[in-house]
Amino acid sequence: MTSSDPKNCSLCNKSGARSCSKCHSISYCSTRCQKRDWSTHKLLCASFASFDNSSRPTDEHVRAIFFPVDDSRPQIAWLRCCWHDREGIRCHYVDTSPFLGLDKNNRVKSRTDEVSNNPILSIKLSDLIYINYWDSSHNDELKGNKSIANILASKGNIHFWQSPVIAYGIKGLGRAKEIIYRDLEMVDFRHIVDYLCESHSYRVPRTIKPNIVGVRINCDGDREICNRPAFELVEVPPTDRIFAEPNTDSDIASCIGLPIITRRYPLQKYCTEKCSNFTNVLATFLNLSCYDPKLGTGRPHQGELGWGWAPMTWQNDVGSILVVRQDKKPMSLWHIEALCNYCKVELQPVFEAAMEENSLAGRREVMSMINQADFLRYWKGNFLRGIPVEKRLGTNIYIPTPYDF
Ligand SMILES: [Zn+2]
Ligand SMILES: [Zn+2]
Repeated sequence: MTSSDPKNCSLCNKSGARSCSKCHSISYCSTRCQKRDWSTHKLLCASFASFDNSSRPTDEHVRAIFFPVDDSRPQIAWLRCCWHDREGIRCHYVDTSPFLGLDKNNRVKSRTDEVSNNPILSIKLSDLIYINYWDSSHNDELKGNKSIANILASKGNIHFWQSPVIAYGIKGLGRAKEIIYRDLEMVDFRHIVDYLCESHSYRVPRTIKPNIVGVRINCDGDREICNRPAFELVEVPPTDRIFAEPNTDSDIASCIGLPIITRRYPLQKYCTEKCSNFTNVLATFLNLSCYDPKLGTGRPHQGELGWGWAPMTWQNDVGSILVVRQDKKPMSLWHIEALCNYCKVELQPVFEAAMEENSLAGRREVMSMINQADFLRYWKGNFLRGIPVEKRLGTNIYIPTPYDF
C-alpha cells in the first residue's frame, strides 16, 4: 500500500497529475483515471465548486461532508470542531448534533469510524478522515439513508446505512498532541465513498456478526395508529426464530425463485377496538395459494381455501409481518414492495379470472406465467416506472433486483 501524495493522481498515485477543472479539489494523471472516478465525483463536484468558502461561520468551523437521510445527494456543510473545558480538562469536541440530532437524554448519539487507508485504491491516507453516524444502540428510528443509497446503488451495491452520516478530517494521522481539524477536499470524498461501500456497507462493527436485514409489512393499525410506513427495514439477529419456525412461505415467491419466509408479529392491543386494524392486505396477497393437486402446483397450507385464495389464516387478523430471506441475504424495501404489488396488481386479477372460468387449462396457463422472468418484467416495467423520480434516488440509478445477490 502506497502513501497518498496530494500532488499525485488521487486514484493511482502517479505523478504529473492535473486537478479537476471544475472543483480543483482532486487530481488525475489521465482521462482514464478521471473517468474511473466520475460516477462518484460528479455527485459533489459542482456543489463543491459553488460552495461559498467565505461563509465559514467561525474559525472553529471546518468544511465537512454530510450524507442526509432524506436527500438524494450528499452536501458540503460547516461543522464546528472545537476545544472546550470539561471539569478542568481540555477536550476536543465536534458538534455533530445539527446533523445527527440528539438522543432522548439530549446527548449526541454518534459513534465514530476512523479512515486511514483506502483498500480499493491501495492507498494509505496522509490525513485521517472521521465518519460519524448513529450509535446502533439507539436504533429506534431506522430510516434508510437516501444519499448513501444513491451512491451505493449506482455501484450495484445495496445500501444498509440507516442513519445520517457526517464526515470530517484532521491534519495528519492523529498522533500529534494537538488535533488540528481541516477542511475536507474532493479526494476525501472519494475515500469516504469507498469506505461506505466496502468496509462498512452495514452499520454494525465488522467484528460483530451482522444482523439479517428484513422487511416488516405493517398492518392497517400499525400504519394508522402508530404511524408506521407500509414497508419498513428491520434488523433480525441470525438466531431469530423466524428461521426455525416460519409461519409460512409464499407459493408465489417460490414460483419466482425468491427464498423468502415470513412470520407474524404478535397482535398489538390498540386503544380503539377495531378488528380491521389487523388487516394486512399486502400480506394476504403475498400468500395467495397456488395449491392445486391436479396441476401439482403449490403446497398445502393450514386453513387452505384453495387455489387463488389466501389461506384463512392469512385472511383475517393477520397483523404486521416480518419477511426475511431464508438464505439470510439482505433484502431491500423495493424488493418486498415489488413482490407484494406483483401479487396484488398483476397476479390477483388473473387468478380471479381463471377462478371464474373454472377450467384446469386456465389455471395451468396462470401457473405457467408466474416465474422469475415475469417478475423481472414487472420489476423493470410497471414497478420501477411507477416510482416517482425523487423516490427513485435520481435518474439512471441502478436499483439491484432481488436476484443480484
Ligand atoms: Zn491516475
Ligand atoms: Zn471536480
